[in-house]
Amino acid sequence: MSRFYILLSLLPAALVAATVSVFGQSGVAPQPADLIVTNAHVVTMNARKDIIEQGAVIIKDARILAVGPAALADRYVAPKTIDAGGDLVLPGMINTHTHAPMTVFRGLGDDVPDRLRRFIFPLEKNLVNRELVYWGALHGIIEMIEGGVTTMVNMYYFEEEVARAAKLAGMRGVLGQTVINFPAPDSPEPYGGIARAREFAAAYRGDPLITPAIAPHAPYTVDREHLLKIAALSAELDLPVLMHVAEMTEEMTSLRKDYNMTPIEYLDSVGLLNRRLIAAHCIFVTDSDIALLKARDAGIAHNMVANIKSAKGVAPVLKMFNQELRVGLGTDGPMSGNTLDIIGQLGYVAKLHKLDNKDRNVMPAANVVEMATRGGARALHREDQLGSLEPGKLADVIIIDKDATHMIPLYDPYSALVYAASPRDVRTTIIHGRVVMEDRRITTVDVAEVRAQMRAIAARINAAIAKGLK
Ligand SMILES: [Zn+2]
Repeated sequence: MSRFYILLSLLPAALVAATVSVFGQSGVAPQPADLIVTNAHVVTMNARKDIIEQGAVIIKDARILAVGPAALADRYVAPKTIDAGGDLVLPGMINTHTHAPMTVFRGLGDDVPDRLRRFIFPLEKNLVNRELVYWGALHGIIEMIEGGVTTMVNMYYFEEEVARAAKLAGMRGVLGQTVINFPAPDSPEPYGGIARAREFAAAYRGDPLITPAIAPHAPYTVDREHLLKIAALSAELDLPVLMHVAEMTEEMTSLRKDYNMTPIEYLDSVGLLNRRLIAAHCIFVTDSDIALLKARDAGIAHNMVANIKSAKGVAPVLKMFNQELRVGLGTDGPMSGNTLDIIGQLGYVAKLHKLDNKDRNVMPAANVVEMATRGGARALHREDQLGSLEPGKLADVIIIDKDATHMIPLYDPYSALVYAASPRDVRTTIIHGRVVMEDRRITTVDVAEVRAQMRAIAARINAAIAKGLK
C-alpha cells in the first residue's frame, strides 16, 4: 500500500483552486510560498494518520499551503527552505495545562506532603511579581520550544506578562488569568482575577498567537457565587475556562458534603461544564462523569507525570479516549511535573495506562502521539486550525532528529517517539510559520540573558526562604 497521498479532499475551498493548479498543470511558474520543508519523513497526524516517508511541507502566510511527496517542493519557490535530512516532521505538540512562570520554583517542595498550602501558596505570596512572572514564563517557553511544544495552555498570575513573553518568543498560547479566593500576587482583593481577565481579554482579542482565557484555580478555591460570575463572563466574551478539576481529595469530600455532587456534576450545575472548559487532571471521575464531560463537549488536560509524582492516581483517560472525549496531554507546572515538554510525557502515558489496565495492548503509541497533537487541538476546540499537518491549518511544525543513537533503527515513528525519543531530539520548531528554533538555536530570544535572569531570581528566592516565608 502506498503511503504517499495528496490531501485534496480535506483542503479548504479557498486553497483547492491553487493546489489543483499546482498539480493539474506542468511547466507553470512555481507558486510563491514563505517556507519549504523538504526531505521530510512527514507524520501528518491527519484523521487517517498518513505518513509520507519522502515528503515536503509548504508554508505560506502562517499556514500550511500543501503537504505531499518530496516532488511537491519543486512546484513552489520560497525565500527559505529547510532540508529536514530525512528527519521526522510532525505537527507541533500542544501542552494543554501548565504554569510556565513557576520554572523559578522548580525543585522546591518536591517529595513532601501538603505541598500546595505549605510551599506553593507561601512562595507565591512572598515572591511573585511581574518581573518574576515574565522571566519565569520566558524560560518555560524556551524549554517548551526546545521540546517541540508549539501551543501552551497556561494559567498563572500577571498573565499579561506571560503573553508578553510568549509574543517575544513566538509561542502560541491560551493564557488564563487566575481567579482565587484570597488576595493574590496580582490582586489585593480576593477574586480580583475576574476583573483582570476581562481587561486581559480586551487587550488580546484577535491576537494571532494569544487566546485570552480565565482560570478559576479549582472548585475548592473559588466559591459557587464567583464560579457563576465566571461562567457568565466566559459566555459573554467566549473565553476559554482553564481549571483544575477532580484532582484533590479535599475537593471531592467538600463537594460531596456541601452539594452531594462530584466536581463534574458541580461544574455542570454552575454552567461551567461546556465546550469552553479545559479541565485539568480529572483523576477522580466516575463513568457518569465521563458521559457528562462528553455530552457537554468539554476538553480534558491529562497530566500523567505530575499525577504519578503526586501519587494521586491515574485519570481514566483510556475510557475517555476510547469514547472520543477531547483529551490532550499536559505537563502541569514545573513544581508538579518539573519539565514542560510533551515528549517526556508520552512514554508514561502509554505505559501507565497499560499497567493500570493490566493490558499491554491498550494505549498504543500512535494514540498517545494523537493525544499530544490533534487531541490537544480537540481539547481546545481548535482542531480546525491546529494539531495536524494539513493544508489550511496553522503552520506549527516540528522536526525531530532520527540520527540520535536511541532513534536507530526507526521502523515505526510512533514507537520511536513514545518509547525512545527525548525532547532534546527536537531540531527545529516552527510556530505560526516562523522558525523559532533552528538546529537547536532559539532564534527569537537571547537564551543566555534569560538564564542569567533566572539564576538571579533563584538567588533572591533562596535568600527569602533562608529568612523564612510568612
Ligand atoms: Zn496545574
